[in-house]
Amino acid sequence: MATTFEVTVYRPKAESSLVADDMQAAYAEVVEIDRLMSLYRSDSELVALNTRSGEGLLAVSPRVLEVLRAADHYARLSQGAFDVTVQPLVGLWGFYHVERASVPQQSEIDAVLRRVGHERMSLDVRNGAVELKAGVGLDLGGIAKGYAVDRALEVLRARGVTAALVNLGGNIGVLGHAPGGRPWVVGIQHPRENRLIGQIRFWRGAVATSGDYDRYFEVDDKRYSHILDPRTGKPVEGIYALTVIAPNATAADALSTAAFVLGPVNGMELLQSCEGVDGFAVEPLGNNTPQNQHLAVSITPSAIAKGHATKDRTVVFLEADPAVALLGPRTIKNGARSRRCIWPINHSP
Ligand code: AMP
Ligand code: MG
Repeated sequence: MATTFEVTVYRPKAESSLVADDMQAAYAEVVEIDRLMSLYRSDSELVALNTRSGEGLLAVSPRVLEVLRAADHYARLSQGAFDVTVQPLVGLWGFYHVERASVPQQSEIDAVLRRVGHERMSLDVRNGAVELKAGVGLDLGGIAKGYAVDRALEVLRARGVTAALVNLGGNIGVLGHAPGGRPWVVGIQHPRENRLIGQIRFWRGAVATSGDYDRYFEVDDKRYSHILDPRTGKPVEGIYALTVIAPNATAADALSTAAFVLGPVNGMELLQSCEGVDGFAVEPLGNNTPQNQHLAVSITPSAIAKGHATKDRTVVFLEADPAVALLGPRTIKNGARSRRCIWPINHSP
């Protein structure tokens, strides 16, 4: 897994000798998940599954089953915008080796799209098995990091850690409270420059961002980035980044990818329909109505007015930036949040 892993553990001073082992245990869990779900190692369970599509029910390990159940849930919730069966499409576009990527022919896209669709994967939960229709391949790149964060936090919790932050390639989850009665603080990357554009202060749960700057290639000044729209078979355009704050890291990861595919307006609408979920989109200027440009967005406008994070409220501080427009959570509508969107992550898979 080519990504960054960062874990911060807080323990009372008397227990400080345990912290090194805490970190080792959290790391071991992440390594295990990578060993199961990576497409970059030929011995992973996921690669084995993909090579056996069309062979009927295939037994999977508990962690893989749990991620596939969550993935199936988020696919339905997003009406297929989030879809782990995009693997052949990601391969066609060359995003597994982006330095060699090129734009495929429309006929190739059409052919590969026939193998894509979350309904082409079916789960047999009782028997711990999955069936992939012939030609189907899975890519868990849009959800597995978040799951690994949830699992690493669970390992820490089981070891008696009461406060921790885990960051796996920008998928961030927390356990307990930050010391000193302060919120957890994470930075938000500028989509086009190597600097932060703001920060999120939150008290619990997880944060994830999907962006068009993670993995991409350019042809004739046009950017093709790694998140694909399963409806068109092409890279999503018209959005730079989408950040989600959710109760767990699996949800934040899947929902940020899903909402990114749906685009700023529909994506935010999905997030707003979900209890306990917030987010914001960063998009090219001119995309949206003028009032959405150059906004400093706050998840809780009353709190940003006071200039600090009120206890238990998530606050997003974003600089006005001449290059981007921001679409915040309350700029579309104040619809009632009724839906339960969060797939619960089991404590022991
Ligand atoms: P993320 O950075 O979490 O948004 O995940 C992006 C990664 O998920 C890509 O690099 C692909 O491996 C995979 N992916 C691309 N498009 C989709 C999609 N529509 N649904 C689910 N996963 C996707
Ligand atoms: Mg994701």
